[in-house]
Amino acid sequence: MNNILIITESRTVAKTIAQALGANVLHKGYFGKGHIAVTWTGGGIISSRPKCKFQFTVSSDMTADETFAANFDFSVRKDSKGKGNRRASEKDEAQIGVIQRLWRNAATIVNAMKPSAPGEVIFTSLSNYICIDRPVVRMWLTSITRKEIVASLENGGNAPEYYAEFHDNAIAEHTIGAHPIEPDYAGLEPSHGLWCMADLKAAALTLWGWAPAKDINTFNDSVVPAMCHRVKNCTYVSSHDLGRLFKDKEHDPHFSRKAQIELGRRYADAMTELAEHVYVTRFRNNRRAAISFTFDDGDLDHYLLAAPELEKRGFRGTFWVIGQKVDACNDTVRPRASWSQLREMAGRGHEISNHSWTHGKLVLMKPEEARREIEMNDSAIAANTGVRPVTFCYPYNAAPSWLIEIASEGRVGTRLHQKGIGQANNKSTPESIKAWVDQVVATGDWGVTMTHGIRVGYDNWHTPQDLWDMFDYVKSREDSIWVATFRDIATYRTERDNVAVKATHTATGMTISTSTDLPADLFNAPLTVAVKGDWADKEVSASRMGAYTPLRTDGNLLLLQMQPDDKVEIHIR
Ligand SMILES: [Zn+2]
Repeated sequence: MNNILIITESRTVAKTIAQALGANVLHKGYFGKGHIAVTWTGGGIISSRPKCKFQFTVSSDMTADETFAANFDFSVRKDSKGKGNRRASEKDEAQIGVIQRLWRNAATIVNAMKPSAPGEVIFTSLSNYICIDRPVVRMWLTSITRKEIVASLENGGNAPEYYAEFHDNAIAEHTIGAHPIEPDYAGLEPSHGLWCMADLKAAALTLWGWAPAKDINTFNDSVVPAMCHRVKNCTYVSSHDLGRLFKDKEHDPHFSRKAQIELGRRYADAMTELAEHVYVTRFRNNRRAAISFTFDDGDLDHYLLAAPELEKRGFRGTFWVIGQKVDACNDTVRPRASWSQLREMAGRGHEISNHSWTHGKLVLMKPEEARREIEMNDSAIAANTGVRPVTFCYPYNAAPSWLIEIASEGRVGTRLHQKGIGQANNKSTPESIKAWVDQVVATGDWGVTMTHGIRVGYDNWHTPQDLWDMFDYVKSREDSIWVATFRDIATYRTERDNVAVKATHTATGMTISTSTDLPADLFNAPLTVAVKGDWADKEVSASRMGAYTPLRTDGNLLLLQMQPDDKVEIHIR
């Protein structure tokens, strides 16, 4: 079998081609003789529609054709949208049947559509619709003369090198549906929005919930708008890293430049839409910033004064204790809390956690000694308070990477940043404290305070009231600040950056699902998921496995609490 099937748009052109090749015997739906058949589509009667508005698959390993095939559904046209299109008639459907049959019996398919972008799209859509794999040759007819037809069939047209790029661009342009802007290499700076494909893919993974974003730790809801802004303004998308791009300025091996530009635009649009649609809020209950009050070395005053003052305001703190020094209640220089006092604090919701067994210089120890320091304290705290620590605080805040690695095993976080507050050493004043809190809120950060002595001991307070006043000030800004233990906020942040959220529309609303690879024994704290929308006049409720679950609206946001691996149905009326 060496059958050749030539496909063009109109019956008239088909006849001309058939005549030139001596195959102009008319059959039902085609001309043919010997091993050559020439048929026609009668226009763009196969429509291509994006499979999903919220998902767009692309990678630098995919050609424009593969991208088109992966993201579109192909069907016989039921409407006349688009230039040169019309609704498929019964006759058209019969013609598609003829083409399908001929295609199946052919060894080679010849694309003889008009050399135009729509011609490429018509042929490629047809090819995807029929979906029978055959080698395809382009008959690139710039004029319909006998000479050109014969030559074209032999060598694939008069500019096959040009054709490949033309085809790529035509398909990419159709796939993205945007008009390209040629990048000006000479004037292009990285700050002008160059973005590499790896970043875009990573972003898509997070936003579209295809996989947890564990490779991009910095990605969160505050980054999304900035990222979208950059991508939106980008003029070039490439799988090359920026350095390489600037050095060799070569095209991506698969995408033409034009295709890359347009895919970048499409990405930006899809990302913006999705970023605004559903996401995990930066901090619990959509608060702008977070603060953990932490206290080092297990002072007795932490039990006598700090914990009760926190509790008066509904706050809970984190107390880093040194196992060996616990129970030194009668120490004349610096009395420490006892195990029973620490147990009482843990029972009231404070976090009693690990500051190593002896507060020795772990950085000077052998790794196995340092590990023993940490593990001994874990065991002592678990045995005496009933709660095993899942965080760690480095003695002297000394944290080389080898120690961070050991201290992070089986934990939600370790203290690597802190704001020292106290008066003997840090000279904190009500003004300096207030300025720091304001800055934490302004930047949307997680502020972690470090306090040692209260009335006595390292960096103690001449006026402890200044510390309680700070608690009051933070309380007054509670709408913007999530106050919680180091453990709770570290857990939330890790979950936030490693949980994929996905929304799918249903007949009665939508399904929101979360998924993660994080270990469930450590990471099981609820996350706040926000869904943007116009909720003003709608009646919205939520259920989990058939049972009602609370939600609330806040302006255009629908807020609900979800576990890292969870599924909630939203009902909208
Ligand atoms: Zn310490």
